Amino acid sequence: MASKGFQLLPCKKDVCQECAVDHKPNEPHNPQSMYYQYKFFGEHGRWPTWKDAIAHCEPKEVREMLREELILRQVWDPRWDQPEGEVPDVMPAEDGSIGTVTTIPLEGKDADDPQDGS
Ligand SMILES: [Zn+2]
Repeated sequence: MASKGFQLLPCKKDVCQECAVDHKPNEPHNPQSMYYQYKFFGEHGRWPTWKDAIAHCEPKEVREMLREELILRQVWDPRWDQPEGEVPDVMPAEDGSIGTVTTIPLEGKDADDPQDGS
């Protein structure tokens, strides 16, 4: 039972199997690819960010370079530099572009509500 409510059609064999875009193995995935977004969501339960899209790029210097480039283009969220768990989620917009950034609250954070009765 690998299905989680939706089925992703397999992409073409001659493109990146992660994002269905024709790019070199060491180049970033296209986070605006619907295929990438849904494949990633199916595997991780959240939408991919640019950070995820470049996570496989080696060596580290390449990722640093890409990060600088993304900062220049103002699409890098500084919160992505924080440890895992505080990484904001990027929701795909209706037109497939990435724009809206939301943060998912950590579970159990509001366990002790001081306003609970008096
Ligand atoms: Zn890719």
